[in-house]
Amino acid sequence: MTRAFTYRGSAAHIVFGAGKRAETGTWVKKLGCGKALVLATPHQADDAAQLAEELGGLAVDVFAKAAMHTPIDVTEAAMDLVRSSGADCVVSLGGGSTTGLGKAIAYRTDVPQIVIPTTYAGSEVTPILGQTEEGRKTTVRGDSILPEVVIYDPDLTTGLPLAMTITSGLNAMAHAAEALYAQDRNPVSSLMAAEGLAAFSEALPLLKADPADTEARSAALYGAWLCGTVLGTVGMALHHKICHTLGGSFNTPHAETHAIMLPHTVGFNAGAVPEQLQPIADLFGATPGAGLFDFSTRIGAPLALKDLGLNETDLERAADIATENPYWNPRPIDRASIRHLLQDAWEGTRPAV
Ligand code: NAD
Repeated sequence: MTRAFTYRGSAAHIVFGAGKRAETGTWVKKLGCGKALVLATPHQADDAAQLAEELGGLAVDVFAKAAMHTPIDVTEAAMDLVRSSGADCVVSLGGGSTTGLGKAIAYRTDVPQIVIPTTYAGSEVTPILGQTEEGRKTTVRGDSILPEVVIYDPDLTTGLPLAMTITSGLNAMAHAAEALYAQDRNPVSSLMAAEGLAAFSEALPLLKADPADTEARSAALYGAWLCGTVLGTVGMALHHKICHTLGGSFNTPHAETHAIMLPHTVGFNAGAVPEQLQPIADLFGATPGAGLFDFSTRIGAPLALKDLGLNETDLERAADIATENPYWNPRPIDRASIRHLLQDAWEGTRPAV
């Protein structure tokens, strides 16, 4: 039976397909712009320089200093270049860190953004910006933050190292898993979440076998679009709260943390919302948490928080932080059960459900 719901479609243009990166200049012009600032991390500086060269007179400069969690000082340095170069749009080439910088510039200037994602994090299709200043992370939402154009070109993901491919894919799947039971879900978000999970369930084992498999790269990027879109449209719950806590307070790496926590948080909620988690049961096994854990094992994903350098003694404070402010979750949260869940994730124990 269809419940009551509200639905808002995304205003972004999505361009998907191998080789589509070549259309970047066309999109700069379609946006009414002609002075693009190309953004990247230091690691992808060469790719950014090449893209700027391809854009020719449409690119004014390259800023290749994007960093994880969008530090304000990096944004301010980029803003100086936006002003001095007269840039009228940004082209963000990279993962969530680069997309975050482009969003931070758009938030301050409202210049349009073109994003060319090279990981599966999904930030390119959300109106959410997380920024850090002196170690403190704040999150803002807004229409100016949502990128105008996203060019998904799977050719650019073939070089994504296998370990990052796996963790980034599981990071994306976590958005879809929580979207399935979101309070404000709608029929379209549920369809997109299930389709995104299905795409990764097929693609990740194929990529483990052959990271250069172009069909599987395409399927994974398709999944990333779907999973990112639902992250941007419905509310998240326990899983994202715990990952935010671990990343923010203990500096655990973003995608790995999501990958390790996913079977445990889904297992925690499985009994409360079996119908909503049915797509996961169908894809990964009748007990969703255990099924996801077995899938992670099969594709060689990290399984234990202790392997990320988190100390067992940190789990007490993590449980405090993750439960100190009440938030909605399909299964009510109490400190003792979250502490238990964190212990299982720290040890890498297979969830029972
Ligand atoms: P990332 O962007 O930090 O990338 C990690 C490293 O991999 C970087 O050095 C990058 O240059 C490199 N890399 C990226 N793609 C590559 C490729 N194809 N080949 C080789 N190297 C490549 O990692 P991420 O997981 O994509 O993003 C994480 C960040 O995104 C976090 O700060 C997270 O908070 C943010 N995020 C935000 C949202 C949102 O909606 N606001 C959503 C998801 C993630």
